[in-house]
Amino acid sequence: MKVYNTLTKQKEEFKPLVNGEVKMYVCGPTVYNFFHIGNGRTFIVFDTIRRYFEYRGFKVDFVQNFTDIDDKMIKKANEENTTVKEIGDKYIKEYYKDADALNIERASVNPRATEYISDIIKFVKELVNKGYAYEVNGDVYFSTKKFNSYGKLSGQNIEDLQSGARISIDERKQDPMDFAIWKAQKTGEPAWKSPWGMGRPGWHIECSCMAKKILGDTIDIHAGGSDLAFPHHENEIAQSEALTGKSFSNYWLHSAFVNVNNEKMSKSLNNFFTAREILEKFDADVIRFLMLSAHYRQQLNFSEDLLYSAKASVERIYNTIGNLENLIVEVSRDEINEEEKKYLESLSKYKNKYIEKMDDDFNTADAITAIFDLIKDINTNITINSSKELVKEALSLIRELGMPLGILQKSTKGTLEDEIEGLIEQRQKARKDKDFALADKIRDDLKARGIVLEDTPQGVRWKKI
Ligand code: AMP
Ligand code: ZN
Repeated sequence: MKVYNTLTKQKEEFKPLVNGEVKMYVCGPTVYNFFHIGNGRTFIVFDTIRRYFEYRGFKVDFVQNFTDIDDKMIKKANEENTTVKEIGDKYIKEYYKDADALNIERASVNPRATEYISDIIKFVKELVNKGYAYEVNGDVYFSTKKFNSYGKLSGQNIEDLQSGARISIDERKQDPMDFAIWKAQKTGEPAWKSPWGMGRPGWHIECSCMAKKILGDTIDIHAGGSDLAFPHHENEIAQSEALTGKSFSNYWLHSAFVNVNNEKMSKSLNNFFTAREILEKFDADVIRFLMLSAHYRQQLNFSEDLLYSAKASVERIYNTIGNLENLIVEVSRDEINEEEKKYLESLSKYKNKYIEKMDDDFNTADAITAIFDLIKDINTNITINSSKELVKEALSLIRELGMPLGILQKSTKGTLEDEIEGLIEQRQKARKDKDFALADKIRDDLKARGIVLEDTPQGVRWKKI
């Protein structure tokens, strides 16, 4: 598999630290509001990348943090006359509601910055001890000049960065590029006891610390929206590598913005739509389809027209799914014949194409084209005269290719029973193909929803617990 690495500015063969495993950290939301679909794109993109690694048999340790202490959190708590903790609790709950509705898989861990304060203090202390950071009146700054490769992610040297960035002169800093890793308490702000007095962590140190604590000194993939490459990720690299002396992350992945009229969708520009309001009108399949219809490194200019066109495309695929679901009941022949076996074999070319495209830096746009080519072929060749087995196989192939994209898993019959039966079929197929990772994943996902599978001599049974 090839992935585009922002660090080297090229596509590289993905080589994990441990064979068959991926340690992945994604910068998550600051939880002071509902997330908008610009944020949503980033979550959907990295959920898809995670799902695709899983589809290819990797075990993925997927960590996405919640930033639950920063200026925006404090401001919101003051506005709502409540505590930062309450704001965090509230919007984390809301995050899960929307993320679940968007069919975003739950992370292995969602660490909250405020739950790692003592580790963060330890991290800062060690940086001070090693001479990479210094304290001024309760603030602690990272000394960028001390870290020789500062600027390597953004591909600039420190002088370019200095002249390019609009940095406010702050006489507390030894150098304008230095950044706060610990901030002294201001009146009314939440604070924790530290060797430098009461204070709170800077934003960048949270991610460095939580990634290290949960995934280790070196991870495979660190990801986030493209606005995070500088300074957030640059600073994370400086802190982490200064501390451990090891490479922090082998691959850095950045997803492009969702724009509105060619401007970044953002809360501050007030040009955003929340995921929740879009979900009121459009299905998760449609929203994910739209987000994945462009390559993740390409900006996407959002409009309602695009949503309607995504809706029409998704409906075309579900039409085929619906036809196949009907055929399963209607066809009169059960067993697949020789000619059909050959035909089924021939459909694997679409799967191969799909894998080839997804293996090439997750080209979801071209992978979707492969799904449409498959649909077209099925529409012309599978009929009422086909065997039940062939119809089922064709249906499960569509669902299989939809799964890493987080789409096409619904039944047009709409019952839970149908959906579960469909997933059981997919699992049986995965086992037949010796894709045990996929088979286990289907079983585990169902278990997480309270549905347990039992393998009996009569076949697979399921029950709700
Ligand atoms: P925030 O809650 O602002 O910290 O953002 C959470 C995630 O969404 C980060 O990875 C951001 O890079 C990403 N993000 C923010 N705005 C956009 C946008 N307009 N398009 C795509 N991703 C975004
Ligand atoms: Zn981060």
